[in-house]
Amino acid sequence: MTAMVKAEGVHKSFGPVEVLKGIDLEVNTGEVFCLIGPSGSGKSTFLRCINHLEKINAGRLYVDGELVGYRQKGDKLYEMKDSEVAVKRRDIGMVFQRFNLFPHMTALENIIEAPVQVKGVSKAQARERAGQLLERVGLADKAGTYPSQLSGGQQQRVAIARALAMDPKLMLFDEPTSALDPELVGDVLDVMRDLAESGMTMIVVTHEMGFAREVGDSLVFMDGGVVVESGHPRDVLTDPQHERTKSFLSKVL
Ligand code: ADP
Ligand code: MG
Repeated sequence: MTAMVKAEGVHKSFGPVEVLKGIDLEVNTGEVFCLIGPSGSGKSTFLRCINHLEKINAGRLYVDGELVGYRQKGDKLYEMKDSEVAVKRRDIGMVFQRFNLFPHMTALENIIEAPVQVKGVSKAQARERAGQLLERVGLADKAGTYPSQLSGGQQQRVAIARALAMDPKLMLFDEPTSALDPELVGDVLDVMRDLAESGMTMIVVTHEMGFAREVGDSLVFMDGGVVVESGHPRDVLTDPQHERTKSFLSKVL
């Protein structure tokens, strides 16, 4: 199997505060990789590093075999230019806790925006694809609806469709259901499960342990900027080896 994401000793600090203290992990192509851990443990920061929203300070981070944020010449590293970063980011879809759709655009307009503006896809083609994606997330009848008229769960499903419209090779989810009313969580998880079954490589930061157990291929427990424990979700969730994992799970399960 090839690694879609590979982290080797990844460090990230904000000023004097070290948030990621040497992360080593591998996400295989096609797998659903779940990341759990207490608030402040560095989960979002790690996703943001993968997605070029933050630059790491030490170590190596690769997506699809290519360095993230840096270009290597000989044994020297150079920071990528913003224009290079922008090109790389097209291949990675990200869904946040807050749906952050463009409020002044309909669901369909939200979905076609990036393909048309960034990739130069024709409007007609982008619309057709958007229609298919809306159908895929169960919202075929909401193409002309504005975000404010959609429930949180529907907005989140549009956000997933919007990310998929760019044909990403990797999807990052940062607590995608945490801000939702409980009765809306299931529909979003169903869409994610469907996406997993289609073979998409996904990194999912979540507190939904049921999802991690049923859909996840790997699970990592992070605390204090390090990977404390990792393995198959069933094993980690039913038989955690470390005190910190046990203590965390006893609070969320
Ligand atoms: P998690 O997603 O696991 O809750 P985060 O990655 O959001 O954790 O945050 C980890 C730590 O990094 C927190 O202490 C947070 O305050 C700090 N942090 C995150 N982003 C920044 C930033 N841009 N500047 C300063 N500190 C930050
Ligand atoms: Mg977070």
